[in-house]
Amino acid sequence: MNEITIQLGDWLFNAGVVGLVNILLHAGDEVKLNGQEVSFNAGVLDKFEEKYFKYFIDTYEKTLAWYKVVSFEDFIKKHEEENFESFTEKDLEILNQYIGSGSKSGTLKYILTSNSHKAAYNLITSELDVLELEKQISTIKLKKNEELKDQIPKIKDLMKKIHDIIRYYNQPDAKKYIAAKNVIYTIINNAWNNVSFLNRQTKIPDMYEDYKIYFLQGLNDYLNDNKKEYNYSCSNCGSLMNDMNNDIAFLNATGFDTSRKLSNVWNFNNDIAICPVCKIVYSCVPAGFTYVYDKGIFINQNQDIQSAVNVNQRIKSEIIDSGDVKNIWEFYRIVSEEMERKINEGVKYELADIQVVRYENESYRFNLLSKKMLKVLSKSTKELNALLKLGYKEVNTYFNIYDEVMKRLLNNENLFLLIHKLMIQKLTKPSESYYQMRNINYLLEINNNYLEGVVGMEVKERDILELSKNAGYYFRKAYEERNVENKINGIAYRLLNALKTNNQHMFMDTLINCYLYIKQSVPKVFIDGMKDDYEFKSVGYAFVAGMTSESKKNEENN
Ligand SMILES: [Zn+2]
Repeated sequence: MNEITIQLGDWLFNAGVVGLVNILLHAGDEVKLNGQEVSFNAGVLDKFEEKYFKYFIDTYEKTLAWYKVVSFEDFIKKHEEENFESFTEKDLEILNQYIGSGSKSGTLKYILTSNSHKAAYNLITSELDVLELEKQISTIKLKKNEELKDQIPKIKDLMKKIHDIIRYYNQPDAKKYIAAKNVIYTIINNAWNNVSFLNRQTKIPDMYEDYKIYFLQGLNDYLNDNKKEYNYSCSNCGSLMNDMNNDIAFLNATGFDTSRKLSNVWNFNNDIAICPVCKIVYSCVPAGFTYVYDKGIFINQNQDIQSAVNVNQRIKSEIIDSGDVKNIWEFYRIVSEEMERKINEGVKYELADIQVVRYENESYRFNLLSKKMLKVLSKSTKELNALLKLGYKEVNTYFNIYDEVMKRLLNNENLFLLIHKLMIQKLTKPSESYYQMRNINYLLEINNNYLEGVVGMEVKERDILELSKNAGYYFRKAYEERNVENKINGIAYRLLNALKTNNQHMFMDTLINCYLYIKQSVPKVFIDGMKDDYEFKSVGYAFVAGMTSESKKNEENN
C-alpha cells in the first residue's frame, strides 16, 4: 500500500492538513505526525467520505438543527412515563415553544419543513412521512375558562406524533443524512462552496456520494501511477501530475475564483493547479478551523504539526464541546496555557509569534499573537470577562465591546480611541449604550496592561487609575453639593476634547478653573502624573469616567 506524506505549507493548506489529521484521528486511523510532516497509509482514504461527515457531525452535534429536534425526547419520555400526571401549564409553554411555527427559525415546524431537511428525507428509507405528520402538529393554546386537564388528551396525541418524528430522526441513516445537511450549511460552507454537494446544480442527491466522486475519484490511479509521463507539477506541493484540472477556486475568500477571472492571462489557471492529494487536503480546511456560527478561528503553528493539532483541538473542544457555544475569543486562554505547558516541558526551540487566522464577515483576517500579548490578555482576563455582555449600537448595528477590544489588541492598537468613542457615545446617546460609564475602567485597566506589557510603558504607581477615578467621583460630589451638577457634562466634553487632541495645557486649564470654583486643590495625581502622553490619557479618561459615572442609586432607579 502507498504511504502518503504531506508537508505543512501556507496557513490555508495547514488548516487543511490539521483538518485531515483531525478527521483521520477521529475515525481511529493511524497517522504519523513528525515535525512539519504528516504521513499515513493511503488505505485510510477508503470510505473517507464517511469519515469526513462523521467528524463534522460528531464535533458539532449539539449545535445542529438535527439535535434540536431529538433533544426534546427526554421531555416527552418523562411525561409519557408519568402518564402526564405532573404536566403543568409551564410544560405546555415549553412544548409550544419547541413546536413554534413554520416561520420561526429554530423551532420544530421550521426545521422539519426547511428545504435542506426535505431533501434529506428522500435519502432515508422509512414508512413515516415526516411532512405529512408535520401538518398535524401545531401549538395548543388554552382558551379562556379552559383548564389544562381538558386539553391533556390532545396534548398526549400531539406528543406521540412528535415522538414518532424524533424516533425517525434518531434512525442511523436519518442522522447520517439530516445531520450531514446541517454541517454542510452551517460549518463546511464557511470554508468552501460551489462544487460537489455545495454546487447548487449538483445531480447527485447523496452528499456522501457527491464528495466521493468530486474529491476522491481517480485518487488511487494517481497514487499507483509511476508519474513518469506526467508533465505538470502541483503548485502547492510540487508533485508531478497528469493534468491541470484541479484548482483551489472552490475555497472561499482566497481570491482565486477562476470562474470570475477569465479575463486574466490565459495561463492563470495553470499557475494554481493542484494535485489530487492537495485537493483532498483543501477540502478539509473546515475541519481545521473552529466555527462558532459564521465566525471561525485557526491557529497556524507551522513549526510543528503535533502542536498545531493539539492547540486547535483544544480550542474546538473547549469552545463548542459542551453544546453551549462559548465566545470564540476564548482561544487566547487556551493558546496561553498550551505555551505555558510547553515551556514547562522544556521544549527546546524558541517559540515564535503565533499566527491567528480568523474568518469573519466572509473574509480572512490575520494577526500575530506575541508572547507579550498573551501575557497581557491573561493578566486582563477578569476585566475582559466583565465586558462580555456590554455593547453599543451604531447606525442600527450592535457592537460587542469585548469583540471591539480584542480586535484592537490583536491589531496591536491601544484602546484610547475606543475609550473616547464609548465615553462620547454614553454622554450623547445613552439609550444606545449598553454599559455604565464606570465600566470604562475595565478598558482603562486592560489598556494599561497593554501599554505596560507590549508598548513598554513605564510602570508608575499601580493605582493611578483608581486615584483619578476617585478624584473624578469627589469632583462630581462637590458640584452636586453646590447644585450645579448640570455643568458636569459641559466640563466632561471640554476635558474629552483636550484628551483626544492630546492637549495637556487645555486639560489642566479646565481642571484648575473648576477646582478654583469648588475651592479645592487639584488632586496630586494630576500634578505628578503628567509625564508622558499615555499616562496623561490614562489618568484623564479615568477622571472623566469617574466624574460622569452614574451613582449606584441612580442606576437602580433606572
Ligand atoms: Zn499537491
